[in-house]
Amino acid sequence: ATETTEAFIASADAHSAHNYHPLPVVVATADGAWMTDVEGRRFLDLLAGYSALNFGHGNRRLLDAAKAQLERVTLTSRAFHHDRFADFCRELAALCGMEMVLPMNTGAEAVETAVKTARKWGYRVKGVPDGRARIVVASDNFHGRTTTIISFSTDAEARADFGPFTPGFDIVPYGDLAALREAVTEDTVAVLLEPIQGEAGVLVPPSGYLQGVREVTRERNVLFIADEIQSGLGRTGRTFACEHEGVVPDMYVLGKALGGGVVPVSAVVSSSEVLGVFRPGEHGSTFGGNPLACAVALEVIAMLRSGEFQRRAAELGEHLHHELGLLTDTGHVTQVRGRGLWAGIDIAPAYGTGREISEKLMDRGVLVKDTHGVTIRIAPPLVISKEDLDWGLAQLRGVLGV
Ligand code: PLP
Repeated sequence: ATETTEAFIASADAHSAHNYHPLPVVVATADGAWMTDVEGRRFLDLLAGYSALNFGHGNRRLLDAAKAQLERVTLTSRAFHHDRFADFCRELAALCGMEMVLPMNTGAEAVETAVKTARKWGYRVKGVPDGRARIVVASDNFHGRTTTIISFSTDAEARADFGPFTPGFDIVPYGDLAALREAVTEDTVAVLLEPIQGEAGVLVPPSGYLQGVREVTRERNVLFIADEIQSGLGRTGRTFACEHEGVVPDMYVLGKALGGGVVPVSAVVSSSEVLGVFRPGEHGSTFGGNPLACAVALEVIAMLRSGEFQRRAAELGEHLHHELGLLTDTGHVTQVRGRGLWAGIDIAPAYGTGREISEKLMDRGVLVKDTHGVTIRIAPPLVISKEDLDWGLAQLRGVLGV
């Protein structure tokens, strides 16, 4: 890193909590699938803000929607109605094939909202005795960083020193339908799962698993909550990852790309039976469903309704997985997982850790993020050109010496 970059990083290190370990690049501007740093160097963004930037940096439609709304009204709070709210809720519900929306801002807040909704539904609709509601979750999950959410994480690092934890969760191995069936009791109000586990390394469950979860939850009168915060909104080649198994959950939890990488927007989307449990004063957020968020999300929803981004993710994704499959054949990579424009790549230990590969890719102008030691994750903006994707893959081959 040169002097300017080093100065920015030193200053950040001095004045910010060290809860991340970023690659040593300081971004100044971005456009489409490319970012430019403070030195004027260009980098291909193969992370896309952990899938928040599905429509690319500086997307014209999203910027225009945001700018127009900035000039009108940005915040009312939910103390008053505003004229983008109804459209946003109706259109998002329609995109999901559901009836009602409860908007929040970040992913973790939406997951918290899903947990509260499921508990309340359990007590008010299912008839679970007060204080006994339980939620079944999967090992290696990632649903966010709040104290309740880390209470059901199996990642020791995410939990250490943050107890005491929230009770009421049962953890079963991801992908193990028998274990899940076994864990459901009369007090179970929900099963909360990522249909593909993102932070765990883009883990795709065994075929038939989501269908099985759907059957068990339906039989036992338990809500199936799909956390599609990372997997949803086009990433896998469909609007929702659940669609690959023809499964419709009782509740979608959405975030990241819903705000187009412009503003934080998240939501719980479900039926009126489920979201109808809330009464005024029982839940909320100052910024949840604000006019700017609604305006940007409405444009995101309009783009998704055309289907073009899903098609692009499916087509380019097929190409991506074909190319990555060739790396497995050469032994440089031990496993590749994923769907659509989303891949977890386990690097053979002889070629370096995920972090080392990420640093070498950065030196060649490609930005990715490692996860769990040996894995690098690829999730480019869905607007990436095939040429740019191929160039990025060529850099990966270069780093591995293929
Ligand atoms: N759920 C899933 C599946 C995620 O991937 C993430 C973020 O990576 C979250 C929840 C948390 O979202 P946020 O970081 O916006 O709180």
